[in-house]
Amino acid sequence: MKNLWNDADAEKMVADYSKKGVDGDLALRVYTTRLLGGEPRLVLHGGGNTSCKTRATDLVGDEWDVLCVKGSGWDMAVIEPQGLPAVKMGALLKARALTELSDEDMVALQRSNLIDPASPNPSVETLLHAFLPHKFVDHTHSTAILAIVDQEDSKALVKRVFGDRLGYVPYIKPGFDLAKVAAEVFEADPSVEGLILDKHGIFTFGDDARQAYDRMIHYVNVAEEYVAKNGKPKAAKAALPAKLAKASDIAPMLRGAVAVARGEGRFDRMISDFRTSDAIIDFINSAKIAELAGRGVSTPDLSIRIKTGPMAIPAPDADKLGDYKAVIRSHVETFAKDYQAYFETNDALDDVKRAMLDPMPRLTLVPGLGMFGHGRTLKDAKIASDVGEMWIEAVRGAEAIGNFQPLSKADLFPLEYWSLEQAKLASNKPKPLTGQVVLITGGAGAIGAATAKLFAANGAHAVIVDLDPAKAAEAAKAAGNNSIGVGADITDPAEMRAAFDKAVAVYGGVDILVSNAGAAWEGRIGELDDATLRKSFELNFFAHQSAAQNAVRIMLEQDTGGVLLFNTSKQAVNPGPKFGAYGIPKAATLFLSRQYALDYGAHGIRSNAVNADRIRSGLLTDAMIASRSGARGVSEKEYMSGNLLGQEVTADDVAQAFLHQALAERTTADVTTVDGGNIAAALR
Ligand SMILES: [Zn+2]
Repeated sequence: MKNLWNDADAEKMVADYSKKGVDGDLALRVYTTRLLGGEPRLVLHGGGNTSCKTRATDLVGDEWDVLCVKGSGWDMAVIEPQGLPAVKMGALLKARALTELSDEDMVALQRSNLIDPASPNPSVETLLHAFLPHKFVDHTHSTAILAIVDQEDSKALVKRVFGDRLGYVPYIKPGFDLAKVAAEVFEADPSVEGLILDKHGIFTFGDDARQAYDRMIHYVNVAEEYVAKNGKPKAAKAALPAKLAKASDIAPMLRGAVAVARGEGRFDRMISDFRTSDAIIDFINSAKIAELAGRGVSTPDLSIRIKTGPMAIPAPDADKLGDYKAVIRSHVETFAKDYQAYFETNDALDDVKRAMLDPMPRLTLVPGLGMFGHGRTLKDAKIASDVGEMWIEAVRGAEAIGNFQPLSKADLFPLEYWSLEQAKLASNKPKPLTGQVVLITGGAGAIGAATAKLFAANGAHAVIVDLDPAKAAEAAKAAGNNSIGVGADITDPAEMRAAFDKAVAVYGGVDILVSNAGAAWEGRIGELDDATLRKSFELNFFAHQSAAQNAVRIMLEQDTGGVLLFNTSKQAVNPGPKFGAYGIPKAATLFLSRQYALDYGAHGIRSNAVNADRIRSGLLTDAMIASRSGARGVSEKEYMSGNLLGQEVTADDVAQAFLHQALAERTTADVTTVDGGNIAAALR
């Protein structure tokens, strides 16, 4: 691992922060914290922590000795001074005399001694930092260090690799007890330059930021070199099928299998992030990958991301794809049963009241293909994949020099169910459509874009399909929530298929279709040329059918139901003069919606339509509004609000109707009218 310290960068950071009133100690603390945080082999997504002991002044001008320590929820890679809240040292040091201190009291003590009460909670490892005398203290979960401590006889190995330069601390759950023991280990030999925490990670310290950082990189390199020099030959590889299925073939099956069934056809769905590389495949093709996965996580705080460890499933045979869904489901069932047993056994050991988290895996290893991270959002799914890559790094090293033997599940349990760990995830409250993927055709138009925005605001990830890829990307950006834009001519079945493939590649599947794209052609029906009518049927009927077929194909693989929503327009029930080319295929699409409701209701797939009218959009442009209202001798405003309510109907109103139909779990074969009231178009 490269030492990234650079004098010029360090000086610049000190100079830049001094203009903002941040002292030099804290500026350098920010500098090396970011250096450590930018390296995934050291820390990942909120893991690890750093501190420095300095002075701070409170609001009445009193100056205090303080510990600036990483705040919970901050990512080291992007830390700012406010991510290192200052806690008064006096109170922290006094706590060492206590014989016990509960986690809740520890948090209360730390919070009540903050210089700025608006700060985030100081790290759960704050006391450990405070009890060490050094000005700068760094802590990481280095994968190379984990390769050495995740062994049965780790104490002897630590001694062999690091000699007397690092102290050895046996595994204790982070908090008050660990802080006390770590301080005692240091005091027994104050010449050490750091501490190894068994099954957990490494601390280094120093008089200045550079010394603590240099020592961290140095000892990580010592560990890396030991692993490289002492590696034994690799384990045997598993036999793979002659013809492997593709990741996209199995993604919807897997995504459906890991969805949490809430009963009566309801599911909490997950997003799947597929990731592969030569390094991933080389490792997961091991003949003993399932056994290694079952041993657990490489460092305990990974459990809030991937629970008790990854799930490994067999490589999929392209010629036996029909049977593979059952294979996946049986593996997921076993994982969930094992997780439940783990919870029940360990929960019974004390009187603490806990609710079991969902028992589904968050990381699936598929030999021959790669791995899938699962999470309720794309962000969480990607974090699970990141964690998976680092789990592989640590386990590969551990297996090279011995046998991967991480923290036992019994010791992991109190940490996974620790209120302070769960608090790190507490901000992720689900929204009504969290975990769901919506694909919207005509997604960059007025109605499509408004629908994408509303669905994304309700937690869905939107796949915005539009003829114009640039506009699709723009609408995706406006919708937010990691939505994506896809350019496609949806009257071409291959391009429609590619759009759905993209949804599967990015999110793992599709749950909601908003089949919205349309265009209008005019002319009296008796004089209309066939080519125009057929062209309209291609877009206003066949593209709806092709979108629905693709959606249903994926939904059946997932087996978690789904919703098809069609924009059928008022023309489907109330034809306008010279508008046959538009209205006739729309009428067919209205019945298409009912046919899907009928044929797939038993699979939990609902199908509904929205009849919208007179919406300002690409179909009804400002120029058309001017000409139509002029022809009728009314003002534009009167024309647009010419309905029973006397109000203009907007794209947002149509989006609300689609959202309602997506959320109404017992509504199918429904037609919702969004036209401000038009009695001639009312359904009967
Ligand atoms: Zn730690």
